[in-house]
Amino acid sequence: MKRYDLVIIGAGPAGLSAAAEASKCGMSVAVFDENAKPGGQLFKQIHKFFGSKKHKARIRGYKIGEQLLSEVAGGVDVELNSPVIGIYPEKEIVVRQGEDIVHCKADSIIVATGATENMVPFEGWTLPGVIGAGAAQTMMNLHGVKPGEKILMLGSGNVGLVVSFQLLQAGCKVRALVDAAPHIGGYGVHAAKVARCGVPFYLSHTITKAEGTDCVTGAVVSQVDEHFQPIPGTEKHFDVDTICVAVGLSPMAQLLMMAGCEMEDARGGHVPVCGQYGETSVPGIYAAGDVSGIEEASSAMIEGRMAGICAAAYLGFCSEKDKNASLTKLSEDLNDLRQGMFAPQNRGKMIKKTEEGIDISQTLLAEGHITTEEAERFPGVVHEVGVHPVIECTQNIPCNPCQDVCPKHCIKVGKDITALPQVDTNIQCIGCGMCVASCSGQAIFLLDENSEPGFGTVTMPYEFLPLPQQGAKGTALDRSGVPVCDAEVVGVKTAPAFDHTSLLTIKVPKDKVMDARFFKKGELEDDKCK
Ligand SMILES: Cc1cc2nc3c(=O)[nH]c(=O)nc-3n(C[C@H](O)[C@H](O)[C@H](O)COP(=O)(O)OP(=O)(O)OC[C@H]3O[C@@H](n4cnc5c(N)ncnc54)[C@H](O)[C@@H]3O)c2cc1C
Repeated sequence: MKRYDLVIIGAGPAGLSAAAEASKCGMSVAVFDENAKPGGQLFKQIHKFFGSKKHKARIRGYKIGEQLLSEVAGGVDVELNSPVIGIYPEKEIVVRQGEDIVHCKADSIIVATGATENMVPFEGWTLPGVIGAGAAQTMMNLHGVKPGEKILMLGSGNVGLVVSFQLLQAGCKVRALVDAAPHIGGYGVHAAKVARCGVPFYLSHTITKAEGTDCVTGAVVSQVDEHFQPIPGTEKHFDVDTICVAVGLSPMAQLLMMAGCEMEDARGGHVPVCGQYGETSVPGIYAAGDVSGIEEASSAMIEGRMAGICAAAYLGFCSEKDKNASLTKLSEDLNDLRQGMFAPQNRGKMIKKTEEGIDISQTLLAEGHITTEEAERFPGVVHEVGVHPVIECTQNIPCNPCQDVCPKHCIKVGKDITALPQVDTNIQCIGCGMCVASCSGQAIFLLDENSEPGFGTVTMPYEFLPLPQQGAKGTALDRSGVPVCDAEVVGVKTAPAFDHTSLLTIKVPKDKVMDARFFKKGELEDDKCK
């Protein structure tokens, strides 16, 4: 039977980060993952991450995955296609590898098995074509397969929003985004990206039926009352072939239960009772990432590192002094992420950012986007002569790349990375576009109200192919995806530093620059479901 100082179950961001720290301390480490590829959810995540530099902000998820893999290369035994099926007394681990059942022994274990997608039952929910949003993401971003042509997305949390945008990027039509709650569950900036492409949001609605006999051919959606019950007579029909369900995740903590860890119902599911650094009630067994409570990949990576260091100290591979120094720094990094209206302790609360005298609340996004009038209330939205940024970042989420990348330092977030960005009007913007390309929420636009008499320009982040060419004529859409005016592409900028976010500059009438937020080339389709 093989022996390891540490066995890690799950090669996602938490597991790989734990492996990197533990192997640095000199431990023999094996990581088992059931998948054929390591990385967990990371290799599906083609979008740029939030946070600050130390959290790998503005780097795309799959690139973070590549960085983690190179960190563990050589020093760690990563065993793929290897589902762990049991943890037995004395830290004996049982793994299925092909037709074989393999046993190994560990002196410490980190369980980093992540989470599974939740489902909701409704009439027809077992039909082929009803899939998890994460499954749609796997099909598109790992296997290059479109999950369908016409999609209905159920759930407006970050997963529903991010996957809706990626479906649009893959060339699918997202007919509707439906949520029973009266407001958007995920980040407003993610919702705004989807809304301006013309996807209608149906909040306070739920799906009541998937139509079809052999596969999905349509969906019925109804408005819900205050008890989330469908209101008869409010049914709407959608012509779709795929229904993506994004109604939350549940920690996959069964192995921890099997190992005898004390469990509790908290943090999004049935999870182990954990110390600050993932220590479970069983000495030498740790939990890290979504398995210990649903959060996101950036916090999973920090939790993984913490657990790796604790396992190393538990077996004497790391001194108490070094352990404490590392944990103090990692705790600070984690604390920076766990701030703002989406932090676990603040979810569902109304946050007031009184310093700037601004109310920021989830009700702000009762429609999936803000209006021009609302946009004007925020400190990043200023009107200046010449080209200048307009920052439509209206929620205090932890993020600050816009401040970091501005070569003239005209964007300020400050030390508290959940503060809203402000534009310093004493410093002249040079129009380089780094802020537009670097904003992970795609919430920054460069405006020039007077580019030529009667006209202005709007420069926007653009991540669709084919990229429109200079001179292309089309329509400018507003924040809700409604056409506002004719538009012409007068600039297309790409650069390695923009990391695949192109900057599209469109010319619109001067009075439309605060409305135009997306560009559609050519004639608009008339089958939009609005
Ligand atoms: C669709 C979707 C979109 C997301 N978008 C974002 C985002 O934009 N930004 C962000 O920060 N976070 C995002 N998240 C959340 C983020 O991906 C997770 O919080 C993060 O991946 C958790 O990391 P983890 O290592 O705990 O788990 P995972 O990444 O899920 O990795 C767990 C690994 O363990 C493996 N495993 C499970 N059980 C076993 C077993 N018994 N034996 C062997 N292997 C096992 C799994 O196959 C998986 O590879 C998203 C999640 C989803 C589902």
